[in-house]
Amino acid sequence: MPEPIIKLKDLEITYNLGKENEFKATLGVTADIYPGEFVAFFGPSGCGKSTIMYSLLGILEPSGGQLLVKGANPYTYSAEEMVAFQTKTIGIIYQAFFLINSISVIDNVALPQIFAGVQPAKRNKWAKELLSKFGMAEHGEKFPDNLSGGQCQRVAVARSMVNNPDILLADEPTGNLDSISTKQVMDSLEKINMEEKKTVIIITHNAAQLSYCHRVFYFKDGRMQRIAPNPEKKQIAKIDRQKILVTEMQRLSKIYPYLNPIELKVKSMVNYLTQDFDFDQILKMEEFTQLMIERKIDKKEYSKLLATPLRKGGAGVDESVSKTMSFRVDDILTQADDAMRFRRRFMDNTFIGREKDLVQKLTDHIAKQYSGDLSRVQKRRLKDLVYKRIAGLVSKEEFEDYLVLSLEEGGVEIPIKEMKKMTLYYEKLLTQGSLDKGHGH
Ligand code: ADP
Repeated sequence: MPEPIIKLKDLEITYNLGKENEFKATLGVTADIYPGEFVAFFGPSGCGKSTIMYSLLGILEPSGGQLLVKGANPYTYSAEEMVAFQTKTIGIIYQAFFLINSISVIDNVALPQIFAGVQPAKRNKWAKELLSKFGMAEHGEKFPDNLSGGQCQRVAVARSMVNNPDILLADEPTGNLDSISTKQVMDSLEKINMEEKKTVIIITHNAAQLSYCHRVFYFKDGRMQRIAPNPEKKQIAKIDRQKILVTEMQRLSKIYPYLNPIELKVKSMVNYLTQDFDFDQILKMEEFTQLMIERKIDKKEYSKLLATPLRKGGAGVDESVSKTMSFRVDDILTQADDAMRFRRRFMDNTFIGREKDLVQKLTDHIAKQYSGDLSRVQKRRLKDLVYKRIAGLVSKEEFEDYLVLSLEEGGVEIPIKEMKKMTLYYEKLLTQGSLDKGHGH
């Protein structure tokens, strides 16, 4: 286990310290970031992400706690040492690129080396190599004015690497870009991390970018709320599973009583990682969905709230998407009542026999998800399986296995594609119809 390249302990950063308008923008942030990690500072606008970045960069001294980069406190550096730190240790890219329009792309990339006294031939060769690495080889002679936003950002990425720094800070690097350019820039950052083995810190409020990261640091109101590892990535940091599971378990085991701790963790992360919506939208959706689950609003009001623009207090979702969402949620909630009734009797031990009517009703709901016709044997097998799953006698995986298994082998013989639809639907029903607090066995 290497030493952390960045160490933050109880970090506190205050604007206008000692003045009337003093404001603590960051409070009690403790985190270790390891060499070669790709991490995200994630959270809604104003939560203090950029503030920490300025502190890391050596331009905003913390008012409390500890900030170490490569084992040293940059605020003890002399002016010269600080220049070396800001060029050789940390590279940075901003949302607004900050390229100089009156000089060529090559010169923009090579500029930091001019100040470092590197000879023109050498710095131009290096700048060209970097441009080529980020897919910009043929644009070197152009001026930034003649490039697209995505191309400008890739020039900025090349420039940030010109002094070969150990750490790259990227402040909302794709905030101004379309989705294709966003992917190109994110791929460039991934290259810097994977091939150059640099530590990359990205500041973002876009959940879609979290899949690039080893770990995600969630911020809210100046505090770091939690650190979540990305299960898709091989971790560099040692993960304190217990610590993660406490918070994950508390929140999620209530929702997914059938899942074990690892499954809960994965579900939570994948949920975050697969969202196309930004953090503000997700929060609004959660708020409205809760109202819907508590039956405080109806399907129509839910759909309207989802489609209302963010600045007017809605979730800012496309109208067609909001309609589909409200339809699905309403459908699940209505039918989940049956699952709820079943579970209640089951848990109260007043459960006698197989509660035939309820199981039949549930089976009918689920059978409706299947686009073909089910034979009598298939219906009977499905009903048996539906009963076993709701009673907790089989896991979700076993449920799926039996759905696709051939009739001869005792299964329902449903095609895999249909099986996924049916399982997803049933699991959502079970979640909404669940009574237990969850134990995540
Ligand atoms: P984020 O990067 O997450 O959007 P910031 O770090 O920019 O958030 O801001 C965090 C908080 O600090 C905000 O409430 C913001 O208004 C405040 N803030 C930022 N810069 C200053 C400043 N120069 N003076 C006073 N308050 C500031």
